[in-house]
Amino acid sequence: MLGSLRSIVQEVNTARDLHSVLDIIVRRVRDIMHTKVCSVYLRDKQSGNYVLMATQGLNQDAVGQVHLAPGEGLVGNVATREEPINLEHAEAHPAFQYFPATGEERFSAFLGTPIIHHRNVLGVLVVQQAERRRFDEGEEAFLVTLSAQLAGVIAHAEATGALANMGQQRNEAKFTGLAASPGVAIGRAHIVAPPANLAAVPFACTMDVDGELALFHQALAAARDEIRDVGERLKNDLNKEERALFDAYISMLDDSSIAVEVCERIRQQLTASRAWAEVMLEHVRRFEAMSDSYFRDRAADVRDLGARVLMHLRQQEQSQREYPDNTVLVGEELTASVLADVPREKLAGLISVKGSANSHVAIIARAMGVPAVMGAQELPWEQVDGVDLVVDGYRGELHIHPGPELKRRYDAIVEEERELARNLDHLAKLPAETADGHRVRMWVNTGLMAGVVRSLERGAEGVGLYRTEVPFLLRDRFPSEEEQREIYREQLQAFAPRPVTMRTLDIGGDKALSYFPIEETNPFLGWRGIRVTLDHPEIFLGQVRAMMKASLGLDNLRIMLPMISGVSELEAARKLVDRAYDELLDEGFNIQRPPLGIMIEVPSAVYQARELAKRVDFMSVGSNDLTQYLLAVDRNNSRVAGIYHSFHPAVLQALLQVVTAGHETNTKVGICGELAGDPGGALLLVAMGYDVLSMNATNLPRVKAALREVNKSELDQLLQQVLLMESPEQIEEKLRGYLQDLGIGGLVQPQQAEANSGS
Ligand code: PEP
Ligand code: MG
Repeated sequence: MLGSLRSIVQEVNTARDLHSVLDIIVRRVRDIMHTKVCSVYLRDKQSGNYVLMATQGLNQDAVGQVHLAPGEGLVGNVATREEPINLEHAEAHPAFQYFPATGEERFSAFLGTPIIHHRNVLGVLVVQQAERRRFDEGEEAFLVTLSAQLAGVIAHAEATGALANMGQQRNEAKFTGLAASPGVAIGRAHIVAPPANLAAVPFACTMDVDGELALFHQALAAARDEIRDVGERLKNDLNKEERALFDAYISMLDDSSIAVEVCERIRQQLTASRAWAEVMLEHVRRFEAMSDSYFRDRAADVRDLGARVLMHLRQQEQSQREYPDNTVLVGEELTASVLADVPREKLAGLISVKGSANSHVAIIARAMGVPAVMGAQELPWEQVDGVDLVVDGYRGELHIHPGPELKRRYDAIVEEERELARNLDHLAKLPAETADGHRVRMWVNTGLMAGVVRSLERGAEGVGLYRTEVPFLLRDRFPSEEEQREIYREQLQAFAPRPVTMRTLDIGGDKALSYFPIEETNPFLGWRGIRVTLDHPEIFLGQVRAMMKASLGLDNLRIMLPMISGVSELEAARKLVDRAYDELLDEGFNIQRPPLGIMIEVPSAVYQARELAKRVDFMSVGSNDLTQYLLAVDRNNSRVAGIYHSFHPAVLQALLQVVTAGHETNTKVGICGELAGDPGGALLLVAMGYDVLSMNATNLPRVKAALREVNKSELDQLLQQVLLMESPEQIEEKLRGYLQDLGIGGLVQPQQAEANSGS
């Protein structure tokens, strides 16, 4: 059964549209289950009724004609009960309804399972038999499994179809995701596809057939040369058969049958990369379906070959690409490195199908003030290249082909944002303190040089977190010690004499370096942060040496270690820092020893906060990771984003415990997770006694404005009330109300954006 399941899902995944998806399902399921009938009913969004969309076994004329309200007939009952109905004699069931058009009176046995996607019933999958018999447990389980697996594909195909219709008529379409970086962008979509994934090449057409053909032949030639080079280099290590394989691959890339197929599709106006991907995937599938395991294994080689040529095509396309004003980057899984490709002044917004508000690309988008929506799972992203759209980063919504009325509403929000920013401008020079004079240090998180001027203009008093991995992400090899020194020097100089906290390389998790791939099943629990750099002292030493050299004459550097989970990691890292410092003194650098601190972002560090605090000059809580590890919720997974709550009572208790432990040993405690940049969260942290709040430059004026409205004693009371609450929702509600009562609810979201809610 597993094999059948896999092959249906594979086939369905390659279908071009909803119609073909449903056709494949009914045909394949009927064959595999040996039933007389298989049908799919889908919910019509407008009427809410379930409509027969495809069938094998019932009269084809009935397709589109049979409508059942929720609860009506057997199908309607499957939908409302959200569980299978399995009947030996369907007609005897009180809910049975007869539709003459279908001719279903001939069938007795009935099994219907709901197709559910993200808690929504999309439709019902039905099989029927002529004879009276109950479908057995195995058959029922098979259909349930299949429905669960197909739900996502159907949802995607539905959205794609809806969009294609809307595209022809240029009608508005709305998609939802997660609000990841506040703000509104009105712009044009530009698709970012992963460079070498055949299955993720967007469907796109071209008018320049000759240009695409030339591009294709160049890419083929480049890939052939590459393989020839590799074969040449390895020739002494390969046996005869392996050498023959290389020759076979090169001949596949000749102007042979594959190339002819591709050129044919290009002549039908498909882009070279899409035509190549379609043809190669068909070949991969053919190999995968072969019964001989030797040939099945070759499928991976063909895929690899396809990826190679695709990479060359992409490189050439990329070098020819120009970004228009107001570019909105759209991709299946955007990563921080794509941000470097687009000039900042052209970049208006970001949309990613995968990922969540706590993914690193979202954090950097917030720091840059670029509106972003993540986890837009239903968006047929491959179809929107060049389309006009609105990114609503407040509510996590996208509007494709926005009409004049919608644009007018969003223009009003943009204007209100500008007004708010103007009103907050004057705060830059005022101290970060409560109305009754309780002073807090308000620092910024940085990673790109572009953010420095913004940070200073907004009154940053220091840098609480400089994410050094960002310059690493934007390259195609590790930066040298001297290159790093120059980058770090720029940061230190720009902020001097203000302190700059540089975190040592924190890669792993969702921060992958293209030139240092880490393949793991569970990357957030794997080789990440300090674990990587302790295993690679050459990288760590080079980095801390570069930092210390960069601070020469400025002495405003603080070094911070990420992902510390216990005392021994800290001690091991400290030894390396000491060694680097001593070496530099020996080399004649006259630098002060920088303060050394750690991030508290792993639960074990919370419970060892006292022991750790005794050994360091400062601690800073990484609430982004601490939340994910305490709640066991992957910060990068949009499916569970709804239960990722930094206001969870358990997280707040941990935050309190850390600051208390730090202060018992006279260690300054800060926080540099996103919670510090949330006006409500920041007020709670001030009440807890946090010495430093480090946040993105965009939010700094908002948080300062909130802080200056309140008295410390009121905040203490607020904290006491919040600590008694049992759920994050209650706490969020309380904070929202508190800010509203102070008249500063608009700091979190423009009033216009709120008024638009639900529209
Ligand atoms: C954190 O985990 O809160 C943090 C600041 O680090 P990062 O988001 O870079 O993992
Ligand atoms: Mg972290």
